[in-house]
Amino acid sequence: MTSDPKEAGVAHDREVGGIRCLEVLDHLADLLDGRLDAATREQIEAHLRDCNWCERFGGAYASTVADIRKLLADPEPLDEAVQERLSRRLREALEVHR
Ligand SMILES: [Zn+2]
Repeated sequence: MTSDPKEAGVAHDREVGGIRCLEVLDHLADLLDGRLDAATREQIEAHLRDCNWCERFGGAYASTVADIRKLLADPEPLDEAVQERLSRRLREALEVHR
């Protein structure tokens, strides 16, 4: 079992906001864990705002991205339960789309 998007058959990969779709996917878990530096976080934020493909990737993934956008706009640190829920949904979304 893998959640690596490169092995998940993700056909689309383009650069938006200085970062590619697959890199965003790679970093999302780190983002949820609060392990990303500010520069990467800004790139991902810009990417998710402007990349239609990431937005349409899938229902579960798209709604996870929507939640992440809300969290990025919120200066409060991530609640652990919220973080766990988003990580799980993201993993499920990636499983569905491989
Ligand atoms: Zn994208």
